[in-house]
Amino acid sequence: MTTTAVRLVPYEEAVERYDPVLGLEVHVELNTASKMFCGCTTTFGAEPNTQVCPVCLGLPGALPVVNAKAVESVIRIGLALNCSIAGWCRFARKNYFYPDMPKNFQTSQYDEPIAYDGYTDVDVDGETVRVEIERAHMEEDTGKSLHVGGATGRIHGADHSLVDYNRAGIPLIEIVTKPIEDTGARVAAVARAYVSHLRDLVRGLGVSDVRMDQGSLRCDVNLSLRPDPSAPLGTRSETKNVNSLRSVERAVRFEVSRHAAVLDGGGRVVQETRHWHEDTGITTPGRVKEEAEDYRYFPEPDLVPIAPDPGWVEELRATLPEPPAVRRQRLQTDWGFSDLEVRDVIGAGALDRIEQTVAAGAAPSAAKKWWLAELARRANDAGIALEGLPITPADVAELQSLVDAGRINDTLARQVLDGVLAGEGSPEAVVSARGLGVISDEAELTAAVERAIEANPDVAAKIRAGKVAAAGALIGAVMKEMRGQADAGRVRELILEKLS
Ligand SMILES: [Zn+2]
Repeated sequence: MTTTAVRLVPYEEAVERYDPVLGLEVHVELNTASKMFCGCTTTFGAEPNTQVCPVCLGLPGALPVVNAKAVESVIRIGLALNCSIAGWCRFARKNYFYPDMPKNFQTSQYDEPIAYDGYTDVDVDGETVRVEIERAHMEEDTGKSLHVGGATGRIHGADHSLVDYNRAGIPLIEIVTKPIEDTGARVAAVARAYVSHLRDLVRGLGVSDVRMDQGSLRCDVNLSLRPDPSAPLGTRSETKNVNSLRSVERAVRFEVSRHAAVLDGGGRVVQETRHWHEDTGITTPGRVKEEAEDYRYFPEPDLVPIAPDPGWVEELRATLPEPPAVRRQRLQTDWGFSDLEVRDVIGAGALDRIEQTVAAGAAPSAAKKWWLAELARRANDAGIALEGLPITPADVAELQSLVDAGRINDTLARQVLDGVLAGEGSPEAVVSARGLGVISDEAELTAAVERAIEANPDVAAKIRAGKVAAAGALIGAVMKEMRGQADAGRVRELILEKLS
């Protein structure tokens, strides 16, 4: 029996004494308008069981038909992952009973995946790690069970359960890596970077929303340890449904620590699936892992094989967007950013926003300044992604154009940002509504400077005596009086003119 007592070896110590081997299985729900084998719509969040038909409910005699758009999407994913595309392949039935799977088998692919033997280059903290791809295959999603009445939402302790089949039959692509070796202490960072990379890559193809929070991208983490890289692979655990980038990293760290403790104690790691607990940051045993033969796979008799025309595959290859690494390099060159700056931008998830802000007319350095220094902090405080802030790249470009034109300074620009984020309209609208423009009326400025000199005779005397650095105090007084709405450089000039 497995024990639930969690004895752990600290991660850093574990990766020093053991060689971790990682494997990642990522499920991507495609954004096709209809399901994998029927014409039902796929809109997220619809009333339960309103998007179903005899095919996806598994009613007797219903016959499935393959969604051509889904095949196109998986081929594009496969090509983007440098995979070979099968000239001929079949679907297979994976037999198991589960209440949210009405047919009691899942239509999947087994030994004939449509895409296989690929790789993708992942940026891990500025270094490139090549991850080899075993396969990408087509299957269908299951429905969703809802357990009602219990405290935890799990079946244990529930009064009754409900099933929603809207999701049953939505096209799902499973992308499986080969064992990822030689990562050492970076294993957790590599796992996170790969999932993040894959998400960006699939999003770039436009074939899925890849929303981890909505389950359109889901990750299973396989991990094993061995004494050293020359030893055979150890027994792996498979942690299911780890559904945020941060959790992927944490789950790897936890499993490394747990495996090391089991091995240190002379025990054997059990091959099993495990549940990830977001709240406590631990995994607990699920079921002992079935072997492939337990699913009694056999070729799906109701579907014809898929034989994509090579010419069509080449046409699809021509539709692939620029790979993320190439795009990053191109933007870095265009913008004149250092490696470190680019890493900061990517770390903040700001690459798209900055690119769009530059396209809207802002200088790259200015675009970076607003998104990284100001907006990333506000997004972080609000616990949302940059994309979630109610401000567009065009707004940011407009804000910078107001600064460039001398109509507002940086201090005022921050207040303008507040206004835009509060829904008061475009930067231009906020400037006029709040009366935030820089006061460039020379008479008004001169009067304010004279008042500041009068109020601070000691400081004025120092400046007259040649201590120009003391002007800062007078500039501060003027800016305060004018509530920041003055050009500090011009104020300084006026002060020095008066006192020289
Ligand atoms: Zn249907």
